[in-house]
Amino acid sequence: MEKKDVKAGEIDHGKLVIKPAWCKGCGICVAFCPVKALALENDKVVVADIDKCTQCGMCELRCPDFAIYVGRRKNEKKA
Ligand code: SF4
Ligand code: SF4
Repeated sequence: MEKKDVKAGEIDHGKLVIKPAWCKGCGICVAFCPVKALALENDKVVVADIDKCTQCGMCELRCPDFAIYVGRRKNEKKA
């Protein structure tokens, strides 16, 4: 299975990875997150509470700029 490597410039929250440089602060992911794990800060998405994230993938699906994606799940091995 292809691994998602966390590259430079990405913020790895474990369950979730954010690429601030690609985020335009539209707030779509914040609005669609069913558990309110995300927030906007200075026109960029930030994690409000990573513990709330269920890795549902909604933010990744809805972000028009590919600036956020679900990180490794617990059952995935590290590189
Ligand atoms: S994966 Fe789901 S629960 Fe986690 S931040 Fe994205 S929308 Fe919210
Ligand atoms: S949907 Fe994408 S571009 Fe919009 S705030 Fe969220 S991460 Fe940023």
